[in-house]
Amino acid sequence: MTLKLYDTYHRELRDFVPIKDDGSVGLYCCGPTVYNYAHIGNLRTYIFEDVLRRVLEHNNYKVDHVVNITDVGHLVSDADDGEDKMETGSARTGKTAWEIADIYTQAFFDDLQHLNILSPTITCKATDHIAEQIVAIQQIEAKGMTYITSDGVYFDTNQDPDYGYLARLNIEGLQEGARVDKGEKRNPTDFALWKFSPENEQRQMEWESPWGKGFPGWHIECSAMAAKYLGPLFDIHCGGKDHIPIHHSNEIAQAQACYGTKLSNYWMHGYFLQTDKTKMSKSSGEFLRMQTLIDQGHDPIAYRYLCLLAHYRSDINFSWDTLQSATTALNRLRDTYFNWPDAGTPSKDFTERFTSFVNDDLNTSQAIALIWELLKSSDVTDADKKATVTLFDSVLGLRLPEWAPQARAEVPDQIMTLVEARQQARTDKDWAAADKARDDLAALGYEVVDTPDGPDVRKI
Ligand code: AMP
Ligand code: ZN
Repeated sequence: MTLKLYDTYHRELRDFVPIKDDGSVGLYCCGPTVYNYAHIGNLRTYIFEDVLRRVLEHNNYKVDHVVNITDVGHLVSDADDGEDKMETGSARTGKTAWEIADIYTQAFFDDLQHLNILSPTITCKATDHIAEQIVAIQQIEAKGMTYITSDGVYFDTNQDPDYGYLARLNIEGLQEGARVDKGEKRNPTDFALWKFSPENEQRQMEWESPWGKGFPGWHIECSAMAAKYLGPLFDIHCGGKDHIPIHHSNEIAQAQACYGTKLSNYWMHGYFLQTDKTKMSKSSGEFLRMQTLIDQGHDPIAYRYLCLLAHYRSDINFSWDTLQSATTALNRLRDTYFNWPDAGTPSKDFTERFTSFVNDDLNTSQAIALIWELLKSSDVTDADKKATVTLFDSVLGLRLPEWAPQARAEVPDQIMTLVEARQQARTDKDWAAADKARDDLAALGYEVVDTPDGPDVRKI
């Protein structure tokens, strides 16, 4: 069955045809800037990319999945203004830039684990690939497409006739509008390849280079590492939609100069998770992270389920109510799945329909609706339903086969009734009733602990 993917570069759904004929697919996904925790918006993008990878695997491809860790060079503005985010993270926490890179890289891997996101085949840090970035800048320089200002080496976008095609940028309009604030840059869209360390300031992260001491720009990191691990033209490059006008436009311009390619055959972009109709962002300071959800008794997999209910190319508005509804639906699915007998075989009809949905540009919401249809179907035995949903779960990643209800056998009915009353009160936001149920439980010698799998009842 044909796999169709929406390619931002061509602005159309395209049949997926891999470059190589050995069954492998090269996938590069822009990873986190590790100056802070990932917020649940960033995590939505990683969930979309994980589903893409699993869908490719469902289609029997072997995926070479590369994710970078941006641990230097991403400035406060994507367009190369302001400080390096790593240095701001260091100032905020009182730790060194190297320490915070380690802390937030580990936190990123923890988040992936919580959300059942498959580990990339290769994870690469910008600071481990300075030499490759310097070589790439030299290649661009050799083409005469760079110039030097007082603060760095810049890419002259005017030398690239196709610059900004990915974003359909109106270059002339930008030239008109930005005359005032482009500083020493020749064109508003020009961007830094190498930034010089300030003369009288010791940066925490800096390296020698043919142009002087400094650090690489954020964009060169991705194209240099992607080409190193996947070759100068690979299959799919992903990121959030905010990367279309600057970061990915610049990656393409660099690859065009270095290798004469547009780096990737398909460019795919995940839409935003918003709160109250504004984009969630790390720099705005206020953001929800995975641990915030866990601390409030939510299950990371319920967040994953919530994300799968929407198409990756539509924005989601996050609310606690929708997360609660997702939790309720997921728990119903888990319970039903758990109680089905084993040893069935997947339904051919449902599996074909599932494949047609996920192969239609990752239509996960229809795939989930199909599970609910299967639940009700009288044409498929329960054992076959279980085998079918197990197969679907290898794409959806809801960890259904691993789930088991907590051992409640030894908990008396009276206690379970109180636990359920407390859950209902929490759903109804009746905090007084929830607290009272907790106190009543304590008086009877039990406590409730909210875990990612729901409330856990323990003897005090
Ligand atoms: P960053 O760590 O800021 O470089 O971002 C990591 C990934 O998250 C990138 O692919 C971004 O495009 C994406 N992203 C940033 N903000 C959001 C958001 N509110 N919703 C979804 N994805 C986002
Ligand atoms: Zn990138």
